[in-house]
Amino acid sequence: MKNLCLLFHCIKKETSDYSQVNPSLYISLDEMDDLLGQLKNRGYEFTLPGKSKEHSSCSITFDDGYSNNILFLDLAKKYKIPFILFLSSYYSENQVPYIWDLMKFHKHNTWSFYKDDYYESLKSLSTNQKMDLMDDSHRPLTIDEIHALDAEDEFYLAPHTHTHQPFYGNFEERSDEEIHKNLKFLKQFKSLIETEFSFPCGISSSKKRKELKNKFERIYTVDGGTYNKDDRVINRISLTSPKYAGPLLDQIENQLKWIYKVKRWVTVARL
Ligand SMILES: [Zn+2]
Repeated sequence: MKNLCLLFHCIKKETSDYSQVNPSLYISLDEMDDLLGQLKNRGYEFTLPGKSKEHSSCSITFDDGYSNNILFLDLAKKYKIPFILFLSSYYSENQVPYIWDLMKFHKHNTWSFYKDDYYESLKSLSTNQKMDLMDDSHRPLTIDEIHALDAEDEFYLAPHTHTHQPFYGNFEERSDEEIHKNLKFLKQFKSLIETEFSFPCGISSSKKRKELKNKFERIYTVDGGTYNKDDRVINRISLTSPKYAGPLLDQIENQLKWIYKVKRWVTVARL
């Protein structure tokens, strides 16, 4: 059994009655509990990638910084799971919902996840538009909530850029500033681990990947697959709601297949 690193975005309670803008991002606590129990039964040990063994380690990560991630704490304690939250600071600092949720909510069909300017798009929204989606299902963590998580032994924070602008095309040159602003915000929390970095949208050019490998000990992608103990690039398995992509354990197994890697490579190459 190889080492696995899993990526989640949002969690919901079974009783949650919010209608999510991007429902495929949400995994329920029960679904997560089942998955973690199954992995534990298969002999996986929950660790951070920097502390993993030769095999059978499983790491749990979250990207972005949705407030609903707080719900994971009970499971983290139940299974003794140290987990990393890769947080994009603009949203917590300004208390604005994530731009991809807002754009979908306001039906901006022309907005491109990869190619548009996140900062300019956020500025172009009215205050009222920015107040939409500040419910518990969509809003980012507040600074107070991050401080509360900061006091928990299982919790670790790591950089994911400031506005979540993907390092793509002309925006590659903004990466230093994006990381600098992000780290400046994250430094107020003791759980920060500055050695890890997760790419916004999981993409980057090979040049940027190489450059950031020199800056961080480990960089995290969403390319699927497994990792070896001393790897500096951690290819994560991104999980989606079972309603859209089938049982979580099947999703993991599918992403271990070479065909998944080819498909993902083709998608990224087309961007
Ligand atoms: Zn992200």
